[in-house]
Amino acid sequence: MADLIIRGGRVLTMDGAIIDNGVVVVDNGLITFVGRNADEKADKVIDAKGCAVMPGLINAHTHLPMTIFRGFADDLPYDKWTKKIQPAEMKLTPADIRAGAYLGVLEMIKTGTTAFADMYFHMDEVAEVVQESGMRAALGYGMIEGLNEDSDTKLKSRANFAIKWNGAANGRITTMYAPHSAASCSKEFLERVKELAVRDNLRIHMHVLETENELKLMKKRYGMCSINLLNSIGFLGQDVLAAHCVWLSDDDIDILKTQNVNVVHCPASNMALGVGTAPVPKMLERGINVALGTDGAASSGSLDMWKEMRTASYLHKLKDPQVLPASKVLEMATVNGARTLGINAGALKPGFAADIILIDLKKPQFTLSNLTSALVHGASGCDVKTTIVDGKILMEDYRVELDEEKIMDDARNVILKITNN
Ligand SMILES: [Zn+2]
Repeated sequence: MADLIIRGGRVLTMDGAIIDNGVVVVDNGLITFVGRNADEKADKVIDAKGCAVMPGLINAHTHLPMTIFRGFADDLPYDKWTKKIQPAEMKLTPADIRAGAYLGVLEMIKTGTTAFADMYFHMDEVAEVVQESGMRAALGYGMIEGLNEDSDTKLKSRANFAIKWNGAANGRITTMYAPHSAASCSKEFLERVKELAVRDNLRIHMHVLETENELKLMKKRYGMCSINLLNSIGFLGQDVLAAHCVWLSDDDIDILKTQNVNVVHCPASNMALGVGTAPVPKMLERGINVALGTDGAASSGSLDMWKEMRTASYLHKLKDPQVLPASKVLEMATVNGARTLGINAGALKPGFAADIILIDLKKPQFTLSNLTSALVHGASGCDVKTTIVDGKILMEDYRVELDEEKIMDDARNVILKITNN
């Protein structure tokens, strides 16, 4: 007897097929069958008639507790935004981080995100929230060299975090090393981070060439951009998750391809902070794995990956409507995200994690034949009806397991405290 069967939906496997009136069987946190008929019986059966059944979305770059700062520094360019946010961040207590992280996972569960890559501080709190909420995440404890501790202490504490939490929560939590950027960490520091990541067989999550200022600073400091510097010290590889990658030359794109680096596109944040447009169509054309992320809600305003998909699609269509079809955008938010996090998810197929969402198709915006286009261009997080992570139902028929009122009250109290200071 299986744990769960989802019957009767339009199954979008993200593995080549859309199966009408399909069946997905889940056992022990994994998908065991995807197809038309299954004899199997299960403890729980979900009737998915009128719904799309698809892999949960993957937010490959965010700073979860920054939900606290949503709208706090709007209408500012990157440098001024940072100047306003950073002093306020320094005041956050572990309890504040916990409240912000809970608000973040609640928003994700309600909008159909089942896994995310996160980088922030007081990360033990974030890890506990992931563990308690049932979400899946790849967590990195952020590192800015020289901030608060000396390098030895910092690297030791980050390694402790990474080792302590990797594989926790039945494997739902994995960890990464998370140096903030090549501009905020020295070459020597980054070399030590790479050594640790290789030693512990963990990935590295960092911001790369997000702003023109980073490009200018690196050229002044090293005579080369961040990507060339990272490449020169043997830092780049398939284990690296490079967020943003806005200010790239064609040579940089070649390096990213040669080294199999995973890039995370964060269009809403890039637009909000006026930093520019990442050359995503070029990177995809070169065969680079490009995933999608919201970045923190303080810059993007939302952790809803449906909005992020739509933003990505239209941002690049502005220059050329042919370059980024809906199917590619959906891949960025599922398959490519899973590859970036290094998890067996992002598609519905046997052996993969049972991270599954149901979209309510009985709505006007879905009354058309091209399901993929309707989802990418017409859906919002409000259309997600059911969210399942690791085979456990976190939201069913729009009702979440978490205490929504308490989570929003707790977060509101932190927000009031921060904005009144
Ligand atoms: Zn970021």
